[in-house]
Amino acid sequence: MNSKYIRNFAIIAHIDHGKSTLSDRLLELTGSLTAREMQAQVLDAMDLERERGITIKAHAVRMMYPAKDGTTYQLNLIDTPGHVDFSYEVSRSLASCEGALLVVDASQGVEAQTLANAYLAINHGLEIIPVINKIDLPSADIPRTREMVEQTVGLDASNAIPVSAKTGLGVPDILEAIVHRLPPPAGDPEAPLQALIFDSWFDAYRGVIVLARIVNGRLRKGAKIRLMSNGKAFDVESMGVLTPKPVEIDELSAGEVGFFVATIKNVADTKIGDTVTEDNRPAIEALPGFEDIKSMVFAGIYTVDSHEHTLLRDALEKLRLNDSSFFFEPESSVALGFGFRCGFLGLLHMEIIQERLEREFNLDLITTAPGVRYRITMTDSSVIEVENPSRWPDPSEVEQIEEPIITATILTNEEYVGGILKLVEDKRGRQKNFEYVSATRVMLTYELPLNEIVLDFYDRLKSVSRGYASLDYQLSGMWVSPMVKMDILVSGEPVDALSIIVHRDFAYDRGRALVSKMRELIPRQQFEVAIQAAIGAKVIARETVSALRKNVIAKCYGGDISRKRKLLEKQKEGKKRMKRIGKVDIPQEAFLAVLKVG
Ligand code: GDP
Ligand code: MG
Repeated sequence: MNSKYIRNFAIIAHIDHGKSTLSDRLLELTGSLTAREMQAQVLDAMDLERERGITIKAHAVRMMYPAKDGTTYQLNLIDTPGHVDFSYEVSRSLASCEGALLVVDASQGVEAQTLANAYLAINHGLEIIPVINKIDLPSADIPRTREMVEQTVGLDASNAIPVSAKTGLGVPDILEAIVHRLPPPAGDPEAPLQALIFDSWFDAYRGVIVLARIVNGRLRKGAKIRLMSNGKAFDVESMGVLTPKPVEIDELSAGEVGFFVATIKNVADTKIGDTVTEDNRPAIEALPGFEDIKSMVFAGIYTVDSHEHTLLRDALEKLRLNDSSFFFEPESSVALGFGFRCGFLGLLHMEIIQERLEREFNLDLITTAPGVRYRITMTDSSVIEVENPSRWPDPSEVEQIEEPIITATILTNEEYVGGILKLVEDKRGRQKNFEYVSATRVMLTYELPLNEIVLDFYDRLKSVSRGYASLDYQLSGMWVSPMVKMDILVSGEPVDALSIIVHRDFAYDRGRALVSKMRELIPRQQFEVAIQAAIGAKVIARETVSALRKNVIAKCYGGDISRKRKLLEKQKEGKKRMKRIGKVDIPQEAFLAVLKVG
């Protein structure tokens, strides 16, 4: 199609402001889905996304829109996730668009991710159409929302479009605005092919599927393509677009977005951000690609059953293709055996990877407590980076420890400021800025150790603000801090997978809280189990799990065999997510107990 009639756009918003609902309405209005196919939030295709009500992967969908000027336009919609952990995905989608709809909930106003995503879009040079959503709600305040968009984001909101994505009111105006206010893609369809890979995933039936934006030239079915990063060549076997149903086509030209399947066997060959070109007429240069993303949160992942170790490695490789923002490498633990050290963008990201591994690959896993990466200067002036507590150096050889710091932006209502200030100070925060952005809304800027954020900061922020505070953060430097390694001993034996790194001043409190939580979480055994927290040789806290008194079977009097069997099966079920360490069965929750005692 002539690129004059193509519009590529993303929808960006704070979480729950209505991106997915708006996508549904746009699909419906353009007839991309029949009423029967329509189900709420069709773009959130993964089960997990639907259950959690969040969008994890960005999706690209083509719609055909007959505009009021009589011309039919091709609109490519890219739905993006709103959570702070996934801003990397947002950035990737934005690189494939010329414009964005910035959706703001008229009853909530501008929130932290509204701001963060709007800035990302502005930095990518995108044309932005502000959309004020949920105007059907009695608490909607359109003038105030406009004012906040202008004051906090700094965009002209005089032509923001008021809509209700729920009832569909005003949504047709968005389609007209996309056509008339957003620019068409630039790019030369006759130039040598340059296509940007912005997503790829593994499909059990079709193999590696690649989602790409054609920047210059044409991609044709049957063509021999070359990946510019590694020079490998493949034949394009089939290609198509998502409408959102996959529809096969024979060609994609400059400005268009679609998927292709080539003779790619190895999942590792398709790198997100790589440029695809034609083998017999290659482009001279690769496209700029994407910044390499740095993991912020690290944890060990192990299989409960050690025979499943290779299955876990295969699963991680496949998931990584679909999500280039996490990393993994082999590690081993005395307590847990062979596993992988994994790096994530944040806690939610870590939870999602773990859940996908368990559901999509049917693995039973043990995850260790999340932590961050420290920079340690040794007394011999060498510098090492440590993200695994089991590799923590001997304190006598350490000169200085630096921990990663984030700058957090918190937007909230005036009445919650007191509670939030106390929370951030408890978490070692340092205030950078305090600003009223409207009569009752406050924007707080703080520097905080990432180590404190990965514990339970998000949940505590939600609870002190009753949900009326939003958070966005980015890495912003390092602080020199007196961090120490705290070991946990079970029956007198240190369990390496339970060790954590804490600030020296917090060690006693956290140690006490941790062993007391573990005492609740570790089930009684046939014998007494001591749980201790120690720093070096010094024990700082101790609790005891008392021995089991009654044999469980003894409860089943008489010959009720089926009941007995049920009980045993239930016990077995309960054991599934436990790891036997020495003679003690430790459940998964105990490995993550530190998350519950922040
Ligand atoms: P997302 O996180 O930005 O994708 O938000 P969703 O589309 O999942 O919407 C979050 C919640 O807001 C859902 O419960 C929607 O039903 C609701 N919602 C979305 N748009 C509207 C609207 O225009 N009016 C009302 N009343 N609710 C809406
Ligand atoms: Mg959504």
